[in-house]
This record gives sequence, structure tokens and C-alpha cells, in this order.
Amino acid sequence: MKAEQPNRTEVFSRHNCLADADSEIWDCLVIGGGPAGAMAAIHAARSGMRTMVVEKQTFPRDKVCGACLNHRAFQVLRNAGLASTIDGLNGETLNRFSLRGYGASFERQLPMGLAVSRSLLDQTLLQAAEKAGAIIRTGTAAKVLPEPNRQSHYRTIALKPTGSNGTSTQISAKVVIVADGLGHPSLNATGEFKDNVNQNSYIGIGASLGCSSDIDWVPRGCITMAATEHGYGGLVRIESGYLNVAGAVSPDLLKSCGSPQATFQWLLTRAGFPMLPEIDAHWRGTPALSRAIDRVVGHRILVIGDAAGYVEPFTGEGMAWAFIGGQSVCQAASMIATDDCDLGCRTWNQQWAELVKRRQQWCRRLAWLLRHRTAARLTVSLAAAFPRITDRVVNQINAELSA
Ligand SMILES: Cc1cc2nc3c(=O)[nH]c(=O)nc-3n(C[C@H](O)[C@H](O)[C@H](O)COP(=O)(O)OP(=O)(O)OC[C@H]3O[C@@H](n4cnc5c(N)ncnc54)[C@H](O)[C@@H]3O)c2cc1C
Repeated sequence: MKAEQPNRTEVFSRHNCLADADSEIWDCLVIGGGPAGAMAAIHAARSGMRTMVVEKQTFPRDKVCGACLNHRAFQVLRNAGLASTIDGLNGETLNRFSLRGYGASFERQLPMGLAVSRSLLDQTLLQAAEKAGAIIRTGTAAKVLPEPNRQSHYRTIALKPTGSNGTSTQISAKVVIVADGLGHPSLNATGEFKDNVNQNSYIGIGASLGCSSDIDWVPRGCITMAATEHGYGGLVRIESGYLNVAGAVSPDLLKSCGSPQATFQWLLTRAGFPMLPEIDAHWRGTPALSRAIDRVVGHRILVIGDAAGYVEPFTGEGMAWAFIGGQSVCQAASMIATDDCDLGCRTWNQQWAELVKRRQQWCRRLAWLLRHRTAARLTVSLAAAFPRITDRVVNQINAELSA
């Protein structure tokens, strides 16, 4: 069976040949057009900064992800005035999740969320950034160049087209917001940041399986999860009834199964689900997921989203962390753009620790439990037997921002 895929044509290409843009000094350059970068660009442009987003891929593009906006993420988008934009996506409203594994199963209600493909969501958010006034430049990889002079008033960034058209160039920005995802590839040439990858980290796998209406055990509105001692996977219906699947697995399991698809099938059968039918889909993988950066600020650089560190996808919060980062970072960014660099760096350091790092603790604890067979068995059995405990954890994860 072949997975049906939506029609895709690049939507931002008219900005890719902005010849004069390169000679200007930008107030704010955002590297990466995922949820963190798009949100940062929306707020930066709205605050009056001349903002450019540089994105390596051409959009729309797929991304390994469970495709679930949890209640908190949903709220951050609504608070940013994007309610009608999000409603227009026609995603599936999420109101429950079910988990099977370790010999038990349970189903619980969820505060309202939304399931929508990353290709549609990310493109729509980047279009919202464009509407807010940001210039979007896709199909271009950015690399922040080393800057030995700590007094300099801007950073220089090398831009290289990823396709066959266009020439490499350099641009300057008063502040650079780095939102380029796991491993912050655009920062590696600076030598200013160190990424600590957890040696036991899982890696991500995922695919969009098209309409797949015969898989009736994945109902609309429900996140269906399979948990095992070597990883876990989630299946969800997104817009048009399409099926999105994603998982976090040990590299050893992936190696022994031989392919992401076979690994996902293993997770399902191990947890007690039926196998998926053979669907000819494009499976993708990610680098190691659990990682931390040694600092989230540098000279005129602010790091947000997965680039600033990630834990695991079990609690489905990555996009909420990315949006919160993108929304909050603009205060520090405008301080740096007006040359108040020390205050800008201090502000983002503090906000990131409070708004994101602290919130990653729940996920870290749950991820630890799932790795340990006895503890995981006990946790899943307790969750099944005592709904109130599960509800408390779920509500904590989905609570709206009070800050
Ligand atoms: C298996 C799995 C399941 C998940 N499920 C969920 C879920 O259900 N819900 C949820 O909220 N989160 C989930 N997440 C987490 C979520 O996908 C991430 O946290 C989120 O995508 C982070 O957004 P970001 O903008 O920081 O990074 P990304 O989404 O990775 O975006 C980074 C962007 O930067 C671009 N880029 C990279 N290098 C460069 C460069 N040099 N120059 C220019 N551009 C560059 C990339 O092309 C990309 O578009 C899941 C993750 C995994 C692995």
C-alpha cells in the first residue's frame, strides 16, 4: 500500500533571491523555521525589529514528530493571536490518550489539544511570521561565524543555498536567535557552545502513513501509545484522517530490527497492539534526542527550542517548549539589538531556566521510569489503577503558563 501524501510546492521561494537584503544589517536573524524559530520571528517582527528567518529546507517539509500540540502549546498559540490560523488547519481535536504496555493498559482524558502534521503546521506558522513582517528565506543553510571581538555590534552569518541555484553569501545581524533544532548545527563553527549528549539517549523515528482508514484501532481524537522497555511509540490521526506515527527508541533496538518501520512494528507487537499493514511510506530518523547545551547565550546569540536542549518526546511537550521559548526570547533579543547585551543575555538565561528547563523535569522523571522495567511496570499498573494520579501528572504537563 502506498501512503497518500498532500500536494507540495515551495511557498517562500520569492524571498530567496533578495539580492539587496544581504548587504543590510538585520536587527534580528532567526536561524531555523520550525516552531521555535517561527514563533520568535512572529514576535520579533511584531516588536518592530527588521527580522529575517533563514531555513535550511524548502517548505513544506516533514519532520519526525508525534504531531500533537498539547493544551499548553495550543494556548501559547492562541495567546499569540493565532487562534484563527490554527483553527484553519483543520487538525484533529485531541481529548484523550490511551497507553498499552508492560502488561497493562489505560485510557485517560486530556485537556484539549490538536493533532496536525508538521508539514502543515510549520509552513503555516512561517507564513504567519511572514505576515507579521519577517522576511523568510528557505533552502538556505546558515552558519554563525566566529567573532573574536566581543565589542562588535553585530554577528556575521554565512548563508549557503542547499539547492543548485543561488550563491553563498554573508549577512550581519545585531542579534541572532538560533532555533535550528537538535545539536544546533549552525553554531558549531563558533566554538562557543558545547552540546552534551546523553550516552543512553533514544533516537526518534517517524512517518506519515497517509489515510490508512483500515487501521481502526487508532481512533480520531486519541493519542494511542505503545510503551516498552526499549522505547515507545505514538499513533495519531491528523488532518484529513491521515495517520502520523512517531517513536523514541534505543539505537540498539533500531540496529537489531534493521529499519525504522520494523522497529515501530516491534514496539507495537511488544506492547500488545496489532501490526501496521505494509505501507510504502518515507520513514525518517533523528540524531540522539536527550542532550543539553552548556549555555543558551553567547555574544549577540540567543538559543531556543530543541537547539537549547531536549529531553524526550514521551510527554509530547517539545513544541510547547519551543513556542514558549520563541515567544519569550524577544524581550532579550530587543535588548541586545539596542546594545544592552549583558542585560539581554542575563534575561534570556533566567527566562529559559524558569520557563523551559524547569518544565523539562517532569519529562526527565517519566523517561527515567520507562527505562527501568520494574519501575515502569509498577508505574503503568498504578496509572491504570489510580486515575487521579495520572490526571494530576497530565494536568501538570498541560497547565497553562502563569508567567
Ligand atoms: C519522535 C518524536 C516525537 C515527538 N512528538 C512530539 C509531540 O507529539 N508534540 C510535541 O509538542 N513535540 C513533539 N516532539 C518534539 C518536537 O518535534 C520538537 O521539540 C520541536 O520540533 C522543536 O522545535 P524547534 O523549532 O526547536 O526545532 P525543529 O522543529 O527541529 O526546527 C529546526 C529547523 O531548523 C532548520 N535548520 C537546521 N539547521 C539549519 C541551518 N544550519 N540553517 C538554517 N536552518 C536550519 C531545520 O531544517 C528545521 O526546520 C517529538 C519529537 C520526536 C523526536
